[in-house]
Amino acid sequence: MLDATQNSAQTRRNPVPAELDALVIGTGVAGLYQLHQLREMGLKVHACDTASNVGGTWYWNRYPGAKFDSEAYIYQYLFDEKLYKDWTWSERFPGQREIERWMHYIADRLDLRRDISFSTTITRATFDEARGLWTVETDQGETITARYLIGCTGMLSAPLEDRFPGQASFKGQIVHTGRYPKEGLALEGKRVAVIGTGATGIQVIQTIAPEVEKLTVFVRTPQYVLPMKNPKYGPDEAAWYKGRFDELKATIPHTFTGFEYDFSNTWADLTPEERRAVLEEVHTDGSLKLWLASFAEMFFDEEVSEEISEFVREKMRARLKDPRLIDILVPKKGDYGFGTHRVPLETQYLETYLRDNVEAVSVRDNPIAEIVPEGVRLEDGTVHEVDTIIMAVGFDAGSGALARIDITGRDGMKLAEEWRKDIRTTLGMMKFGFPNLFMTGAPLAPSAALCNMTTCLQQQTEWISGCIRHMQETGKDVMEPTAEGEDDWVRHHDEVANATLISKTNSWYTGSNVPGKPRRVLSYTGGVGTYRGKCDEMAKEGYPAFAMSKAGAPQEA
Ligand code: NAP
Repeated sequence: MLDATQNSAQTRRNPVPAELDALVIGTGVAGLYQLHQLREMGLKVHACDTASNVGGTWYWNRYPGAKFDSEAYIYQYLFDEKLYKDWTWSERFPGQREIERWMHYIADRLDLRRDISFSTTITRATFDEARGLWTVETDQGETITARYLIGCTGMLSAPLEDRFPGQASFKGQIVHTGRYPKEGLALEGKRVAVIGTGATGIQVIQTIAPEVEKLTVFVRTPQYVLPMKNPKYGPDEAAWYKGRFDELKATIPHTFTGFEYDFSNTWADLTPEERRAVLEEVHTDGSLKLWLASFAEMFFDEEVSEEISEFVREKMRARLKDPRLIDILVPKKGDYGFGTHRVPLETQYLETYLRDNVEAVSVRDNPIAEIVPEGVRLEDGTVHEVDTIIMAVGFDAGSGALARIDITGRDGMKLAEEWRKDIRTTLGMMKFGFPNLFMTGAPLAPSAALCNMTTCLQQQTEWISGCIRHMQETGKDVMEPTAEGEDDWVRHHDEVANATLISKTNSWYTGSNVPGKPRRVLSYTGGVGTYRGKCDEMAKEGYPAFAMSKAGAPQEA
């Protein structure tokens, strides 16, 4: 069944104007706001999206059970009080359809659709050094020139769709969660496999288990999970959070993770009993507080990490009871610490495995060898016969979406090739060799992973608008990080990141989920507030890590 939001989908594609000041790629949280800002500044700006409507992540990830695990009222934009207050959420952590409706509300209220071409993929972009312009091609046969090219392509939008040999031979339906069909899949009475138990797989598993005949879950690395509490919001709750607008606006942008809460305890200052009390309290909150607002030491200190990890494992074991399930589903001491991988919130996820129609299959020591026409074959030859396979196997995060576009910068430099050698950026928003290419949700910024996304994407798009405004005011129109500027940022990023336990683990946080991807902690780990401060300082000091010039003239540092 189609969602009501589909009614406002465009039926006719807007052509992309041939000459632009700025072209924005993507119409998710970042793209919509970037388009709005640049239009308000008087630029001729347009956005393109492969999707047939706005939403970005919330357009593509329409798999069963997809929902927020940031509190909805902190995920909203904070730049316009009326825009904020005129939208009302129905619960603390709403689902994809409601979030998608909110994104439609934003697009309509800001009248953005007239400057968006949906169903339009940017295939190639080449920087013309002589003119200081990008020449951009779309899959619709258009060629556009734009002074500024802004990637609002999302940090988790390049799905790893071809994960296993033999996928094409499968007799039933096989879908990646990031490309789940709009019309859904008929799962009732079916034998369904879910591969992957990250934040996505967990939401799928707990949602579809009651519907399907048999659910087989292939589990490789067990996950630490936290129970979600998701109260409905009525008029009182809406009045409560809307009444906090000024407070939220003042605090959220400066916290460590862009959430409303922050780390407020110091491990060494508390007795074991007091620590336990803190952990119990944040665990009961039903949010990500245990991860993002208990003890920052969990990210640096092996002993603290182990104590907190054991606290979470204990909670999980108590719910699972069955030793076999505990063995498959609960991380083991020494695997990796709580919080060094993305922590998912769940609703009765562990209890799902106690159902008769659900089977957990460990593929840690007996990996998936291939997909065969009947189902999933493991290395030892066992075939699990299924009708439908849902691949919750993740994304080429941070760099993946832009690297899938054929982008050529200065001196023939290819972005994909550069990032195949080493994942580097300056402030996570520009890349040496690629003048006037701005990016959001890209590596080496908190928006690559460790952030409430709207907090970080607002900050980044505002910073990018500030760069363009600065160029306009100073008569410059080409901006590029200097080699030294980029070296400095990468060095600082690594220094901060390598001090964390995250750097010692394997997940999409370090790029290790994509074979051959250079290893680096993708997200800036110095904190959202600190990062914002560094970006602001860079602007205030006249962008010392960047060279700016007039097109055709030599660049000045
Ligand atoms: P993910 O965290 O990368 O998880 C992928 C899963 O697939 C892992 O369990 C992984 O196992 C498994 N996998 C990959 N290749 C496999 C193979 N060959 N054999 C067996 N298992 C394999 O991806 P995700 O769950 O899509 O989540 C990505 C991110 O999206 C999250 O971390 C989160 O930031 C975001 N997200 C957010 C929300 C929300 O806000 N509500 C919801 C969903 C997702 P290994 O760990 O062993 O590699």
